[in-house]
Amino acid sequence: MAEPELDVAVIGAGFAGMYMLHRLRGLGFRARVFEAGSGVGGTWYWNRYPGARCDIESVQYSYQFDEALQQEWVWSERHATQPEILGYAEHVAERFDLYADIQFDTRIEGLELNAAGTGWTLETEDGACFTARFCVMATGCLSVPNWPALPGLENFAGPVLHTARWPHGAQDFTGRRVAVIGTGSSGIQTIPLVAEQADRLTVFQRTANYTIPARNAPLDPEKVRALKARYKEFRAEAKQTGPGIHAVFRPASVLEASEDEVFERFEERWRDGGLIFMGAFGDLMLTQEGNDKAAGFVRDKIRAIVDDAETAERLCPRNIIGAKRLCVDTDYYATYNRDNVQLVDLRAEPIERVGESSIRTGADDYPADVVIIATGFDAMTGALTNVDIRGRDGVRLAELWDEGPSSYLGLAMNGFPNLFTVTGPGSPSVFTNMIPTIEQHVDWIADCLVHARDHRHGRIEATGDAEQAWWAHVQEVGRVGLKATVDSWYVGANVEGKARVFLPYLGGFPEYCRKCEEVVARDYEGFAFG
Ligand code: NAP
Repeated sequence: MAEPELDVAVIGAGFAGMYMLHRLRGLGFRARVFEAGSGVGGTWYWNRYPGARCDIESVQYSYQFDEALQQEWVWSERHATQPEILGYAEHVAERFDLYADIQFDTRIEGLELNAAGTGWTLETEDGACFTARFCVMATGCLSVPNWPALPGLENFAGPVLHTARWPHGAQDFTGRRVAVIGTGSSGIQTIPLVAEQADRLTVFQRTANYTIPARNAPLDPEKVRALKARYKEFRAEAKQTGPGIHAVFRPASVLEASEDEVFERFEERWRDGGLIFMGAFGDLMLTQEGNDKAAGFVRDKIRAIVDDAETAERLCPRNIIGAKRLCVDTDYYATYNRDNVQLVDLRAEPIERVGESSIRTGADDYPADVVIIATGFDAMTGALTNVDIRGRDGVRLAELWDEGPSSYLGLAMNGFPNLFTVTGPGSPSVFTNMIPTIEQHVDWIADCLVHARDHRHGRIEATGDAEQAWWAHVQEVGRVGLKATVDSWYVGANVEGKARVFLPYLGGFPEYCRKCEEVVARDYEGFAFG
């Protein structure tokens, strides 16, 4: 059999693919990254909509594998903007000379396992082929856009912009009538900025969402200096928390606190801003009664901010707070006090048809020159099932996962030897600070590849038993508390026809890391080598 061209092929040049390449090269592997876009940055390359920012603080949402990098890079704001994060990704690519081994504008459409099960052929959309011993899918958790099935959308005369495929270059909405469909994190971030420009903005809301003020601000250089003086310790402390985020998670029970205390703690968190709102008490996701207290607090805030009582009620979510990803905003609710902004409740008046220059619901026809689609992603599995991956005996991953995915540690799948996933389904990923989690996955995969090389193993594969046991554990933990009780992308409910399965691992970052370390300590327990 011909020698494969590459030791390792990496798919995707986001934060996972970039760090994977850096590690592989340092270890002497012949590696190349294949990237569909024309630049690095992954999600931050594609999601260029106005208002796009990270909901994790910038000093935490960044690499830590290189002390000089984290000391030297200067973030300007508490929550970095998309352009700043993209600039950071580009800086890292230059600093570590990654561009030399990244092939841009190359979408991998197929992956086929060779007959011996010891390597893969990669097929690009242009019909080119590459061979590699190992493949690492660094394709991201939120990278395949979810398009709504809206009758007539194809006939809309003006631009239709998906937040996750935003065109390069600023879009000017001045004097235009804009429709936004979707009120998740992306919609909630972009709506206030579009409203400032547009002549009219109509927001089509299917489910109201909870959002907490970001309280974004320039970073205080003195505070950053103090943090950087102990960056390593700070990072280590973050990894001891469930989400891998440095913050105060109060263990106290909301059910045992007095009404005054409950109010004070929520008020404090609302003032501080950000996702950490849910850290006010330790049991907010455990009981309906406890959760109601947090949800009720936010609903009161909405009623206090939004002038029009009817609009305020429509904006008040009624479901569990924190079951869907909490949103973080700047002036979202206050935007509905503007004269040029209107909220349409799709539960009361579903969209019937998109016309050439309007959106018709059961109750009215709303004129529009531009439609912004903010309907999210085929999360966690979409980027994997979108590639035609054919494993042992020609089994297609997409077909195998028709009734839901399965994975060992979110890292590898039985039947697909020599294929790794960074932050795949069954990993804590989206419940954690993604960049440190990515680093942990990449380091684990790099160590595993070195182990295989040192022991002259040509094949590494998760065993069926280990995968089943881990997946059963992921489902069991996912059922704890209230998270799984709500339709969300965590359970695949946002994509029509997608199996309803709990996708990420809810057991927390420390527990997950402990398990990964234990697997190695037990000589790669759950993996078969050949
Ligand atoms: P999302 O949270 O899935 O929200 C999609 C929105 O579109 C929801 O309001 C949904 O309503 C609506 N929708 C979906 N299909 C629809 C349809 N056919 N008709 C009408 N409305 C429809 O997607 P996202 O806002 O892009 O965010 C996804 C995730 O990306 C976030 O949870 C977060 O993890 C990440 N993200 C993070 C940031 C940040 O760091 N700040 C920013 C953006 C995204 P339903 O609720 O009824 O389904």
